[in-house]
Amino acid sequence: MARYTGPVCKLCRRDGEKLFLKGARCLSAKCSVERRAYPPGQHGKDAQFRRGRGSDYSLQLREKQKARRVYGVLERQFRRYFSEALRRPGLTGSNLLTILESRLDNVVYRLGWADSRAHARQIVQHGHIAVNGRRTNIPSYLVRPDDVVAIREQSRSRQYFKELRAYMEDRPQAPEWLSVNMGAMEGTVLRVPERRDVDLPLNEQLIVEYYSR
Ligand code: SF4
Repeated sequence: MARYTGPVCKLCRRDGEKLFLKGARCLSAKCSVERRAYPPGQHGKDAQFRRGRGSDYSLQLREKQKARRVYGVLERQFRRYFSEALRRPGLTGSNLLTILESRLDNVVYRLGWADSRAHARQIVQHGHIAVNGRRTNIPSYLVRPDDVVAIREQSRSRQYFKELRAYMEDRPQAPEWLSVNMGAMEGTVLRVPERRDVDLPLNEQLIVEYYSR
């Protein structure tokens, strides 16, 4: 599955806020949003002063782009997720966030096994993750309640996972809809993630408006 491979800090600067796409660097003083708080490009500094509130369309577009970038999803797949969210009963915006949160790469990130979603995606793609005992290397795989996501037996002896286990055993971290057991190196999906579980500054209503034009 294709993914964006360009410079990611530019994406944060374009949106004018931290999207936390790079793990530890995002929390350091090296963060580009902190150092260069204006849009990227030759005229970025000028644009900073011209920037007004923007049209309704531009606000909707920015919100949609922000969600895509946070979850590392390209346009075509994002649109597919939106169609699926429309089909499901309930609020389309919340359904969309539920689908995005249920991606396997996001679950690996939420379980604390990676320091960014891009890193989690790499861990999945390199075949280190099993879902319900089966090797699963598809980052877009959507987990369901009662699924057990585990670091595969063969990968546990790797230095990264050994250190992760030692680090996380005293500090298990998982949102309410997941449980993590670092002794067994696995996590369980307790329920479907809801809107209140998504701690991101996203206005999903604007995304719905964008696709409803
Ligand atoms: Fe965004 Fe992180 Fe880069 Fe800062 S360091 S601009 S938060 S990706």
